[in-house]
Formats: sequence, C-alpha cells, structure tokens
Amino acid sequence: MPAISSNKPYRIGRSKTGLGLFATKPIKKGTKIIRYFGPMLDCRKEKDDAIENKYLFQINGRWTIDGSVRKNVARYINHSCRPNAESDVSARKRTVYIRAIKNIAPGDEINYDYGTEYFKEYLKPIGCKCASCERKRAKQRAEARAAKTSTAKPTAKAKKAKAAKPVTKAKSKATPVSGKSRSQRAKTSARAGTKSRASTKAAQKRQARAA
Ligand SMILES: [Zn+2]
Repeated sequence: MPAISSNKPYRIGRSKTGLGLFATKPIKKGTKIIRYFGPMLDCRKEKDDAIENKYLFQINGRWTIDGSVRKNVARYINHSCRPNAESDVSARKRTVYIRAIKNIAPGDEINYDYGTEYFKEYLKPIGCKCASCERKRAKQRAEARAAKTSTAKPTAKAKKAKAAKPVTKAKSKATPVSGKSRSQRAKTSARAGTKSRASTKAAQKRQARAA
C-alpha cells in the first residue's frame, strides 16, 4: 500500500467491496481531491494498445492513462451511483482529477460514477454494491416484508393464496446479498480494460461542456 503523507485529506481503508479511499478531513465541494495519474498510453502504438489492466482510464480516442502504478492512490476510489466526487477530465492537458461535488465529511468514503456503460455492462448483472444501491435493496426488502404481513391477516382467501406458493417466494428473496466474494471477484475482473470504454463517454461529455 502506498504511503500517504499526513497533509492529504484522505486515507486508504476497508470498504464493502475491498479497499477504498476515505476522507480524513472535511473536503469542500469543488475541491480537487486527487489526481488520477500514470503513464500515458498512445493507442496508435501497438505496444501501448496491447496493455490491459483494470485501471485504464481513457481520456480520448487516442490517449489512455495507465493508472495501475502503485503511486496512483486514486485507483482505490470505488464506484458509486450517488457519488460525492467526479472525474474531471482535461483532454487538452491529458489530466484527470477527482473533484468533490459535495461537501465530504471525515470518515466518508470518496466515490465517483464510473459511467453508464460500465454500470450496465458490469455492475448491474452482479448487483451494484454501492451504498445507494444497498439502501435501495434494503428498502425493497422491508417493503416486501411489510406487504407480506399486511396481507397475512384478512380473509381465508388471502391465507390460502399465501400458503399456495411460499417456497418460490422465499427462494427469490434469499438470493440477492449472498455470494459477495464471488461477485467481488467478478467486479474486479470486469474492471479489466473496461474503464477505458466507460470513461470515453464521460470524457467526451466533459469536452463538449468545456467547448
Ligand atoms: Zn450503485
């Protein structure tokens, strides 16, 4: 694990999906927290284009940052669907900064959105583990439980219906959260070489906004 000097407002720590980056000091909205950096890969060079790892961050059609280097602490930042930071891409300067889009309190995990494409392709199939998605699932479970208890009392009819198919219900409910380590591994491997694709769009969007 790379050392982080104490004047930085973050530290590496345990998160739900492995390691993550956490604030150690209040970080104001708009602050550039950390740079995502590494060797610049030129896709026109065969040797560069052949490099595959899970920390590739594509800046535009030509340039990609290889963020797998040890010193790139920003690589620990996890995806969230309701993030408190974003990746700020400058295609011209070929830099990426992770910037706070909310005020972040000490202890909070720092997250940014990896992008719709990445989500659809890799997180949705295995179930996104971000706090926002976990909350959504917990709420759905609670609602399902509440619906079950409210239909449990009234008529004999309802009772019969309930008794008719309890097994399938229980089964479908049991699946979501378990198998964490497996899906974690899937996430890790899914990240390989896909960040680039996911971030292209974001980069282009940002370029468009800047223009
Ligand atoms: Zn999510």
